[in-house]
Amino acid sequence: MKLARVQPLLLPAPASRDESRAAPAPCFAVLEGATAWEVSGPFEGARTRTGRSWPLAEVRLLAPIVPTKVVCQGRNYVDHAAELNNPVPKEPLIFLKPPSSIIGPGEPILLPPISRRVDFEGEIAAVIGRTCSRLADADSVAPFLLGYTCLNDVTARDLQKADGRFTRAKGFDTFCPLGPVIETEFDLAHATIETTINGERRQFGRASDMIFSVDAIIRWVSRIMTLEPGDVVATGTPAGVGPLQPGDVVEVTISGVGALRNPVAPRES
Ligand code: ZN
Repeated sequence: MKLARVQPLLLPAPASRDESRAAPAPCFAVLEGATAWEVSGPFEGARTRTGRSWPLAEVRLLAPIVPTKVVCQGRNYVDHAAELNNPVPKEPLIFLKPPSSIIGPGEPILLPPISRRVDFEGEIAAVIGRTCSRLADADSVAPFLLGYTCLNDVTARDLQKADGRFTRAKGFDTFCPLGPVIETEFDLAHATIETTINGERRQFGRASDMIFSVDAIIRWVSRIMTLEPGDVVATGTPAGVGPLQPGDVVEVTISGVGALRNPVAPRES
């Protein structure tokens, strides 16, 4: 099932209709073919259809979830650790991106003037569906998952190196494109991830090449911080990271989920 958050568009009203009608508020929807069916909530049990629906062309897709936190995993593919001359970690290396950095499909990534090198990092992201805390190694993670989506862990590489920390480099507004949908029936074992710039392939990876599995990362994180419904856990980027330029269009595609496409623009100040 493809879950989305949609903003119904306010179309020009036919002359016979009330022209004062307001656009409906953003809502969760299940996408089927070319139709978005509103549901009362994203989580299991709340996915009751309200009866309202729109043609896909009459909604804008927003970031599919509003998390309390975005937990990211650094260096989870051997070839990416190697390209940045980093050792392969012995245990997960995590950092947080602020929820304020999230943007949806189609929204521009804004390059801050303070950085001379802003990189894309296409990643597979798990979305939590049930509160989870202190999972043991034997615990199954599947019951706590809502599904998977695409994430672009945009990074000011020069600031990351200068700071020796990730918070500033990965925390700018617009540095966390997310979407376009959450796939709730996802075949992680055979999933692939690809990042293109202006249609040209720059990154390609297989979920099976991760150093730490999604389950291992989620169990490990849950022993540090409680994961709430809607929280996002990104799983690291494969090799091929590179800089974004104003005017580029960057697209992160996960097989079976969809393509997350964002233009790139300069930020004025
Ligand atoms: Zn990353």
